[in-house]
Amino acid sequence: MSRRLKRGDKIVVATHNAGKLREIRALVEPYGIEAVSAAEFGLAAPEETETTFEGNALIKARAAAQQARLPALADDSGLSVDAIGGAPGVYTADWAETPAGRDFGLAMRRLHSELQAAGAAEPWAARFNSALAVAWPDGEEIVFLGQVEGRISWPPRGDQGFGYDPVFVRAGETETFGEMSADRKQADDHRSDAFAKLSAAILEEETE
Ligand code: IMP
Repeated sequence: MSRRLKRGDKIVVATHNAGKLREIRALVEPYGIEAVSAAEFGLAAPEETETTFEGNALIKARAAAQQARLPALADDSGLSVDAIGGAPGVYTADWAETPAGRDFGLAMRRLHSELQAAGAAEPWAARFNSALAVAWPDGEEIVFLGQVEGRISWPPRGDQGFGYDPVFVRAGETETFGEMSADRKQADDHRSDAFAKLSAAILEEETE
């Protein structure tokens, strides 16, 4: 059996993304775990040099565990769209990069223009993937994968959430993630899917 995280433990959440931090905190707090962000520790973000979500999640968790000397939880996630060969995939964040910082309006417009350039007919099947990695300072580590199926919808709708939420519609729904409350989105998304596996494997029972 793998090592567990207990109520009262402190972990560092290896992300500089405020949206992810908010969602991960909401997931771990019911288990009595205190989540401190990488930014609060002044940790540098390592380069994500792997070609899989799993590989990049492990890079981030390992680096944070080593620097903070605490167990670290990292998410690497992204959007994969079938009609354009699974892009942007592990490059989901890169599509938003500009010299002035991340611009997700730009990233969503690129997604739409690539779909048009590919001549892809709707519905544009897509999924969000999440790899959640936990690393301990002594080198032990474990990773869990989650996903949520859906489609790309154009134009963007809603100002809730973050990143590509305004263009993603979960299978069986009509609202985008950007139009949903945080609770409704997180009841069934890629991160909560991965987290359900993580909690079954390494967390103690939820407090009510
Ligand atoms: P990472 O920080 O390298 O894992 O990049 C993940 C990218 O995927 C970021 O650009 C996020 O905006 C995007 N992303 C991941 N999860 C979600 C989500 O739940 N909603 C919207 N965008 C997401």
